[in-house]
Amino acid sequence: MTGSPVGRFEGRRRLRARGRVRPDWPDAGDRFRRLFDHSPDPAWIIAGNRFIDCNAAAVAMLGYGDKRGLLETHPGDLSPAFQPDGEDSRTKAERMIATARRNGQHRFEWVHTRADGSCFDAEVTLSSLSLDGREVIYCAWRDITTRKRDEERLQLARTVFDNSSEGIVVTDADALILSVNPAFTEITGYSADEAVGRKPSILRSDHHEPGFYADLWRTLLETGHWQGEVWNRRKDGSVYVQWQTITAVRDATGRVASYVSVFTDITNMRRNEDRIRHLAYHDALTGLPNRTLLMDRLEHGIAVARREAHRLAVLFLDLDRFKAVNDSLGHDAGDRLLREVAARIVASLRRTDTVARMGGDEFVVLLEPAGPADDIARTAEAVIAALDQPVDLGVESVRVTTSVGIAVFPETAEDAVSLLKQADTAMYAAKKGGRNTYRFFAAGMTEKTLATLRLERDLRAAIQRGEFELHYQPKICFEDRRPCGAEALVRWRRDGNDTLMYPADFIPLAEETGLVVALGDWVIEEACRQIAAWRAAGLGDIPLAVNVSARQLFSRDFAVRVIEATRRHGITPAMLQIEITESAVMADPDAASAILSELRALGATVAIDDFGTGYSSLAYLTRLPVDVIKIDRSFVIGLAEGVENAEIVASIVALGRALGKIVVAEGVENDEEVRLLTAAECPIGQGYLFARPMPAAELTPWLAGRKDCRTCADYDVRGCGGMRP
Ligand code: C2E
Ligand code: MG
Ligand code: MG
Repeated sequence: MTGSPVGRFEGRRRLRARGRVRPDWPDAGDRFRRLFDHSPDPAWIIAGNRFIDCNAAAVAMLGYGDKRGLLETHPGDLSPAFQPDGEDSRTKAERMIATARRNGQHRFEWVHTRADGSCFDAEVTLSSLSLDGREVIYCAWRDITTRKRDEERLQLARTVFDNSSEGIVVTDADALILSVNPAFTEITGYSADEAVGRKPSILRSDHHEPGFYADLWRTLLETGHWQGEVWNRRKDGSVYVQWQTITAVRDATGRVASYVSVFTDITNMRRNEDRIRHLAYHDALTGLPNRTLLMDRLEHGIAVARREAHRLAVLFLDLDRFKAVNDSLGHDAGDRLLREVAARIVASLRRTDTVARMGGDEFVVLLEPAGPADDIARTAEAVIAALDQPVDLGVESVRVTTSVGIAVFPETAEDAVSLLKQADTAMYAAKKGGRNTYRFFAAGMTEKTLATLRLERDLRAAIQRGEFELHYQPKICFEDRRPCGAEALVRWRRDGNDTLMYPADFIPLAEETGLVVALGDWVIEEACRQIAAWRAAGLGDIPLAVNVSARQLFSRDFAVRVIEATRRHGITPAMLQIEITESAVMADPDAASAILSELRALGATVAIDDFGTGYSSLAYLTRLPVDVIKIDRSFVIGLAEGVENAEIVASIVALGRALGKIVVAEGVENDEEVRLLTAAECPIGQGYLFARPMPAAELTPWLAGRKDCRTCADYDVRGCGGMRP
């Protein structure tokens, strides 16, 4: 058959012309003809390699209007050029027909083309038969597009099933396993052979509450669906968590035909989650709860305490000398110390109490419930005692103490943030109160503490910003009212303000924080500079006394630093007098004596300040390596008031003279005091009567106006009575 329309037309005309005489295939009777024509299944008659007839179903299947255009066509004309196996359609069609002829019947799949060019899959059955002695082929088609599509879908499902990383189990309605995928085997350790025919309960662990599986089944039956976490046991006995979805699959009648369960092993995810959660809520160094978790527990604790009407206590701990250990022994030692401290705190408490590390060397203890104040105090004492023991850090054994501040719900505050703040404030009070102790929060602490914190912050910056200045108060010889040196007194021009801050308002804090060492170094440097400046201005050598705090005195290489400062400014150490208060010396008399001796050996002189207030016995004086004794102002004020003070002053002076020390009276304000001091044979005084402390810019002209100013050259500080006539 030619593929051209003209050829086909010619053929059809021939066919019709002949058909009118007799049908193209021998007439098998009208009945069979009708059967053929009206059969719902597409059917063809093939003779040679051509379709010589077809029924209406075949025409419809191909999407043609009538069969005229279809007769005398070759099967290849109604097919794509090639079949899916790659063979060209014409050749293959003829091969199929030949096979049918040879075998009587042949069935195969074929792709046909519709009138509109689209394709469909057909299952073709060719039967060879003889009609009125003529060999023809009866050809029946079945459209298998749907079946094909189903097969492809099934194949896809199979691929998904086999390659899914999620475990899949299919069971029948009785929950007997029908199939499992490779991921199932990988996760559970059971092969398909081991699992099929058994129930999923082979995986059961004893990690669930008794009602768990019953609930699961109830939900599954009621809703057709269940989703959740299941703890299962692998074949090797290990337990794991899976996230599982079970779906009931129903058949057309609505009965459950099977269950499909899909699951992922989330054990690792869970472990990571747990780790992350732990990290988020715990301190990495000590493993203790961190601030976040503490706040959680505190809030929760408050809620419980409120409901059950009991107390709750917050203890804020801060180690007293941690920074020193950390700085001198290194961070590893510091870390070890913190871990040991954490362990000791935990060990000294009940298991129900919470210990958290807030960072640095700060810890918080939550006592819940807390007993009466006495109990809380006892707990604080126990913690303090537990920490006040040497800690062996390998190379060295150190002792750190701790200061504890306590706030109590509901007495001092009713919310977490306030409680914590109050405990912190009380902790500062404990530090002020001498460390290694505890304080309960008391109203009024807050503002003071805040101010202190601000002061400390400003103080640190002040040294850098150069906000300090020295004022000088001359010392006067009573005998001739001539100046004989001056005392340097520090002032703080805070924030560049015009108002001056006096030492009483910042020296104690500077001392507490250690800032006094840097401040003191500055004072000594500045004093040396001033001595050199006066000398350069032609005023001669005016000796200056500087005040030195205990912490400064005991700081490393203090004596050496002082002497180096004098060298830097080209003055002799004898120009500098170190004033140290009696109470500072008494803090550690032996150590103080050693340093003071060293200073004197290097050429500086030493004065003991505020003498009479430090509770040292007069006898102690004999052993102190000092040149000058400054009688505290309180005795000078009292001079005029009573015999007793006069006697004290007289005996200090007498003793001083006997020991070869110069005695100076502080705070001389009036002539009566001068008269009494002179009567007691005190040679030198310092006070508002003669001059107030003043800046160098004022003191310089003041000194210059007194041509009779005594200078170092004029007096022998170490000589008896101090002064040359
Ligand atoms: P201080 O060493 O006993 O100094 C004498 C204090 O008495 C000074 O107070 C001075 O202004 C005051 N004063 C002097 N004459 C009179 C008087 O006639 N009447 C009265 N009422 N007061 C008088 P200031 O300057 O406030 O210093 C107070 C204390 O601060 C000093 O006592 C000293 O212990 C300490 N200080 C001052 N400067 C320094 C310093 O640079 N370093 C250290 N560590 N402490 C210092
Ligand atoms: Mg002084
Ligand atoms: Mg004094």
